[in-house]
Amino acid sequence: MFFHKPPVANHESRFFMCYDSVRSESESFMTARLLDGLKIRDQIFAELQDEIRALVAAGIRPGLAAVLVGENPASQLYVKSKIAACEQLGLASWLHTPPASVSTEELLRLVDGLNRDNNVDGILVQLPLPPQVDTKCVLEAVDPSKDVDGFHPVSLGRLVSGRPGLVACTPAGCMEILRRSDIPIEGANAAVLGRSDIVGKPMALLLMHANATVTICHSKTRDLPEIVRRADIVVAAMGKAGFVQANWLKPGAAVIDVGTNTIKDYAEAERLLRNFPARLEKFRTKGSVLVGDVHPDALNAAGALTPVPGGVGPMTITMLMSNTVKAARLRRGAPEFSATQTTATAR
Ligand code: NAP
Repeated sequence: MFFHKPPVANHESRFFMCYDSVRSESESFMTARLLDGLKIRDQIFAELQDEIRALVAAGIRPGLAAVLVGENPASQLYVKSKIAACEQLGLASWLHTPPASVSTEELLRLVDGLNRDNNVDGILVQLPLPPQVDTKCVLEAVDPSKDVDGFHPVSLGRLVSGRPGLVACTPAGCMEILRRSDIPIEGANAAVLGRSDIVGKPMALLLMHANATVTICHSKTRDLPEIVRRADIVVAAMGKAGFVQANWLKPGAAVIDVGTNTIKDYAEAERLLRNFPARLEKFRTKGSVLVGDVHPDALNAAGALTPVPGGVGPMTITMLMSNTVKAARLRRGAPEFSATQTTATAR
């Protein structure tokens, strides 16, 4: 059992909290330690800045090329944040914006040019691509040594076999949260809920390489609550708002909530946030609220937990930056001096 704190004396008052006001209002009432992704991002950024300065001094300026097809507003926002992070850290960045009508062949030519450009250490093809484009074909055309998203089959193969390589950013970020929060992984029972190529599968492999005993769950899994009840570490990546109930959790469990679900329906918001009046009030004003795959009431049941928003979310871009620096080091033969990079390496 990890991080279990004694039950609070005042049962009623512990529910009157929200993530936004957790620190100011009611930290003393909650049972879960909050695993703050923003704080961990800041730590990693500071380490990366030192590393980038040292690389630049050695004549190597790591650089990320982003390919943003069309004018999808969500994709534009994501890419803008990624470029802004590059600028904040002192990485070089390039933005390529082919029109929505682009063909697979045209994108393959663009990727080929980026593969050949020695200044480019990382290539990011923002998904989704338009329907006429063969997405798999484009992703597989990226040079695996520049595959900073970790989506290439070669990167996945390296992860499976425990070889150094570039690991998908979200699961790599979850590992950073666990390690930097001193959550014991070795020997722990871990349940990974979800088996997607970009989150669930790599997450399960990273936990297994870190010597956890891992159960991978999916939509056909029988008796999910019972599996979750045995888990010291729960990673929820299903895309189902508030699905994992607080009473499924083993006391003291560490919960990594990858889910990001935007709730717009009032009845659903009320069902999920009935014990969080301040968040519900915010929903009334804004018309939407972001909720994870774990029910918000888990804040009062888990031992440690990543909030949504502010937990796993900030780690994805963080690990993209980390992977770009790592790719620069691996490609250009620079000496190893990163504290961050050990996590992103399969082991
Ligand atoms: P995905 O490709 O849709 O995969 C969802 C997985 O959940 C599938 O493996 C599915 O099982 C499983 N699943 C669905 N219903 C289930 C149930 N009732 N019980 C157990 N497993 C169930 O999703 P994804 O891309 O991995 O993303 C998952 C969530 O993480 C989404 O909310 C997404 O928005 C979020 N996400 C967040 C970040 C971030 O930066 N914070 C990054 C990536 C993703 P089957 O395989 O059987 O269908």
